Amino acid sequence: MLGTVENNNQGVLIFAEGPSNSIENFIKDIPQCLPEASSLHSLEVSEVKPQGFSDFSIVKSQSISDEVTEVSPDIAVCKACLDDMKSQPHRKNYAFTNCTNCGPRFTIIKGLPYDRPKTTMSVFPLCNTCHKEYSEVLDRRFHAQPVACNTCGPQYTLHYHKGIEMDINAIIKCCCQMLEQGKILAIKGLGGYHLCCDASNEEAVKRLRQRKNREGKPLAVMLKDSDAAEVYLEMDSENKKLLNSWRKPIVLLPIRKELAASISIGLSTAGAMLPYMPFHHMLFEKLQIPAVVFTSGNVSDEPIVIDNDEALEKLATIADAVLTYNRDIHNRTDDSVAMIVDDKPRLIRRSRSYAPAPVHLSISTEGIFAAGAELVNCFAIGKGNQAILSQHIGDLKNLETLDFYTESVARFQELFRFTPELIAADMHPEYLSSKFAADLGIKTTLVQHHHAHIASCMAEHHLDEQVIGISFDGTGYGDDGHIWGAEFFVCDLADYERINHFEYVPQPGGDALSKHPWRMMLAYLYHYHGSDCTSLFPAFFENTDTHEREILLTMLKQNINCPLTSSAGRLFDAVSALLGICLNTAYHAEAPMRLEAVAIDDTEATYPYSLGKSISFKECFSAMIDDIRIGIPVAEVATKFHNTIVDVVVQMACDIRENRDIHTVVMSGGSFQNRFLLEKVSAKLKEINFAAFSQEKLPSNDGGIALGQLAIAAKRRELGLI
Ligand code: ZN
Ligand code: ZN
Ligand code: FE
Repeated sequence: MLGTVENNNQGVLIFAEGPSNSIENFIKDIPQCLPEASSLHSLEVSEVKPQGFSDFSIVKSQSISDEVTEVSPDIAVCKACLDDMKSQPHRKNYAFTNCTNCGPRFTIIKGLPYDRPKTTMSVFPLCNTCHKEYSEVLDRRFHAQPVACNTCGPQYTLHYHKGIEMDINAIIKCCCQMLEQGKILAIKGLGGYHLCCDASNEEAVKRLRQRKNREGKPLAVMLKDSDAAEVYLEMDSENKKLLNSWRKPIVLLPIRKELAASISIGLSTAGAMLPYMPFHHMLFEKLQIPAVVFTSGNVSDEPIVIDNDEALEKLATIADAVLTYNRDIHNRTDDSVAMIVDDKPRLIRRSRSYAPAPVHLSISTEGIFAAGAELVNCFAIGKGNQAILSQHIGDLKNLETLDFYTESVARFQELFRFTPELIAADMHPEYLSSKFAADLGIKTTLVQHHHAHIASCMAEHHLDEQVIGISFDGTGYGDDGHIWGAEFFVCDLADYERINHFEYVPQPGGDALSKHPWRMMLAYLYHYHGSDCTSLFPAFFENTDTHEREILLTMLKQNINCPLTSSAGRLFDAVSALLGICLNTAYHAEAPMRLEAVAIDDTEATYPYSLGKSISFKECFSAMIDDIRIGIPVAEVATKFHNTIVDVVVQMACDIRENRDIHTVVMSGGSFQNRFLLEKVSAKLKEINFAAFSQEKLPSNDGGIALGQLAIAAKRRELGLI
């Protein structure tokens, strides 16, 4: 067969010339022979006049229109490349080996169409051998843009106490020795630097935490392969598949045998991933320890470091050695985090190897910019019927992260040739993303936070109808000015009606309180029992500060800085503190996560609650207090509490179905990252014939908000509402 293939900004264009049966077979083969990391959205075939081709060749990429092809996410190194590193003389132990099926993509792309000069590989001219491979149709590296070898490609440099080392074998040896000795290394990855140490060495892990200023947050670990991972973590076939997939995300798995105790303090799960760069494989081949901490190379909440000079300056104060390489990271990406719930992968952080793959919608999103939320920001742009979501950006309240946001928005505009015509932003007037959106001075539609959560889930499942939307999370601005967070809606993509919500409870100190779950416990007890609550239940306040307690009581009594909240996250905080599990937190959502960690699936019992104009947990609190007082184990109380929430959700769904005849339930919001809650609610709803949807392609936390904002704006525009 003869002809040409071309990668232009509208997709892949193939001219195929030959006998009709071989052309037919060729067309049939396309969907079946796709590379692992590719996806086929549509295949259009049309007949044209034969042009008398003399060979089959790749035509240089061309920009035809303002439309863009997809930008590929980064792909973990493939098996064939790992083999080449042992067999090909010019790639012997070459740590940047890649091919058309694997290697860096988004992280090195500066512009489209995707060609080497528009990547950070542009400074490495191809040697003759690589050029031959690059130009040879039958070669695995035919038109692989980042192709490189020992002669022509990027190289690692280790900066350590003895100076500089550039020989890769010496570097591997040295890194292994240092890790085995409990030292901390900063290692440049695909999307940014990692900080690494022996994950079974408690001293080393503690030192890393201390130096990084990361008190309690769980640390991800890398293991050699899934067999090695299985020694320490429990996993079924779905988990294994996800762990081994070309995306190589961090997968949250139940701990079977403990590594260092400080890896994930107080949780029953740990985040694990497998090697995804050639260097990782080379390291684990020689390493005498089973697992290595691979956590973001940054100082507390700043974005992950990508710049070599910055790494040598900032990370050198944390790490004992810094391993750099001389290819720039253009687009920063963190490791993605996922877990399997109900046999399906769920994303908690969508970044490396997922972004910027588009989400296909059944509505035109063209020209819409969705600014995202604030705490776990990710923004989105609309092209055609696609939503292109940015990589995980982070907490915009951090100045460096806000810069990262501004820079990434500009880069997406340029890369995807995008000009915003319509903006969607959270209605919270103080969100920095909303302020950024307002400064653009373009027509804007404001979106309620929890409506955006539900719409995000609807959009990824192509739902465009009235649904029962249940959104549970920590915080979101409500249209009555209060803090919402456990909302029962009847909604479609354009609008929502708030049917019910958890009872409003004062939140003394506002958002600052979320770091101190015991204060929320106090707020609940005050709400139900008045100002005597601390003397009525002294046992619950044993480990809290008397002075702080007095201040909080005064605030509550005089209603000073006590916004009202219906947040599910705050209720979980209060219960976590009541059970003595978590009085103060070191990281976001720690209290609910640790409450979930002690819940076990051995009782169906629930606590009483009441459904009225809002949903009250007064009886639930009294019953929990009684249970705790008579010595019922914490695990049982936590389980009964979870069951109660499951019951509330199911009961509310049934009530709404009864009144409105709606049979579809859509669940989203950060609290649905609670595996216990999501699994039980989904199962029960399906049992009673609801169509129940939860997020799969996007995180159900605020990282998924931008998709919802985009879908809502698109629908409102389609209906002529804006
Ligand atoms: Zn490869
Ligand atoms: Zn070369
Ligand atoms: Fe939220």
